[in-house]
Amino acid sequence: MREVTYTGRGVALRVGELFLKGKNRFLFEKALEHNLRRSLAGRSDVELVPSHGRLFVLGADDEDVIARLSAVFGVASLSPVLFCEKKRSAIQAAAVELAKDHPGIETFRISARRADKTFELTSVELNCEVGGAVFLATGWRVDLEEPDLDIGVEIGPYGTFLWSRNLRGAGGLPTGTGGKAMLLLSGGIDSPVAGHYIQKRGLELDAVYFHSFPYTSDGAKDKVVRLASVLARRQAAFRLHVVPFTAIQEALRDQVEGKHLVVLYRRAMIRIAERIAKTRHALALVTGESLGQVASQTLHNLCAIDDAAQMPVLRPLIGFDKREVVELAQKIGTFDISTSPHDDCCSLFVPRHPETKAHLGHIRDLESRVDLEVALAIAVDNVIVIDL
Ligand code: ATP
Ligand code: MG
Repeated sequence: MREVTYTGRGVALRVGELFLKGKNRFLFEKALEHNLRRSLAGRSDVELVPSHGRLFVLGADDEDVIARLSAVFGVASLSPVLFCEKKRSAIQAAAVELAKDHPGIETFRISARRADKTFELTSVELNCEVGGAVFLATGWRVDLEEPDLDIGVEIGPYGTFLWSRNLRGAGGLPTGTGGKAMLLLSGGIDSPVAGHYIQKRGLELDAVYFHSFPYTSDGAKDKVVRLASVLARRQAAFRLHVVPFTAIQEALRDQVEGKHLVVLYRRAMIRIAERIAKTRHALALVTGESLGQVASQTLHNLCAIDDAAQMPVLRPLIGFDKREVVELAQKIGTFDISTSPHDDCCSLFVPRHPETKAHLGHIRDLESRVDLEVALAIAVDNVIVIDL
C-alpha cells in the first residue's frame, strides 16, 4: 500500500457493501484488483493503485477507462477525480478546473471530507474557501439543499482529490471469489447471458458445448467459441469443452418416440457436463433455461431434467421473458454473435410438438431401455478442450 502523491486526472472506485464485511475481505480485494488490472489491459498510460483500503486509477479518466472499469463486477460506483497537492491554493485551483467541465450550471455546493485531521482547515472552512474560489471563477450561486453541481473534496491519507460525478458501477461480487460452475453454453441467446449473471455473483466459469456435427456445422461451434471468448474476458483462464454429441442423439432418436427426445437429450447433457465439472472442481451447472420459454422448459420438464443431476443446476434466467433476455444480451455484447447466421444442414431431431409434461417414471423407463453408458463415456473421452 502506498501514498498517492499523484496530481492530475484519475478515477476513484467504491466497492459494494458486502465486500467490506467478513473474513474474506482480503481475498475479495485481491480478486477485484486482478480483475480491474485485466480490464485495463492495453492502457499502459494508466495505473491501478490500491491505497489504504481504497482503489484508484491514476493517469486518465476518459470514456474508455470509465467504460472498462464500470464493467468490472464488485465495483459499486466510481468517480472521475482530479488529484492535487494537499494545499489550500491547489485545492481551490482544482475545484475551479473541475467546474469548467460543467457548462450551463447555476448553483453548486462543496462537500469536503477531511480524513486527515492534521490538515490546516476544517471541513467547514474548506467548504467556504473552495466555494469562494469557485464563485469568483464562475459566478454560480451556492445552494446547499439542491445544487445543480456537487463538488466533492477529500483529504485522505491516500491523497487529496476532488470529483463532481458519481457513476454507477457493475455491482455484484468480484468474479472468481465464489468458486466455479460449469456453463452449458449453446450458440443461442440465453446461455451466454446466464453465464454473465453467474460471473456477476462472483463465480468463475468453464463451459461445455454439445456439438452435433454434421447436423450442426462447425460454424455453430465457432459461434460458441466467440461467445465463450466474451465471457472469458472476465477471467484469468476459461476452458471451453466441446463434446461430440451426435452418437448419443442418434442412439436416442433411433429408440425413443420424438416427443420425449428433448428431455432425454438434456438429461444426457447434464450427465456429461457433471462428469467434466468434477474434473474441473466446478460445484454446479448453469443453463440458460427460463420457465415456459419453450415447450421443453416447463416445470415438469425441468424436474425431469434435474432428476438426472447430482449437482445443483443454476438457472439465473428462470423468471425472465425472452424480450428481457434479448435486452440483456445486447447490453453485454453477445446478442450479435448469438444471432449471426451459420449454415446448419437441419435442425436436429427436435419434433414440432415436444412433450410439455414429462412424467418422470416414464422418462426413466424409456431411458433405461437405451444403453447410453458406453456412448457417454466415449463422448467424455473425446472432448476437445479450448483454452481461452
Ligand atoms: P440458448 O438457450 O442458449 O439461447 P436455445 O434457446 O436454442 O439456446 P434451449 O433449447 O433453450 O437452447 O436450451 C436450454 C439450455 O440448455 C440452454 O440455455 C443451454 O444452457 C443448454 N443447451 C442447449 N443446447 C446446448 C448445447 N448444444 N450445448 C450446450 N448447452 C446447451
Ligand atoms: Mg433458450
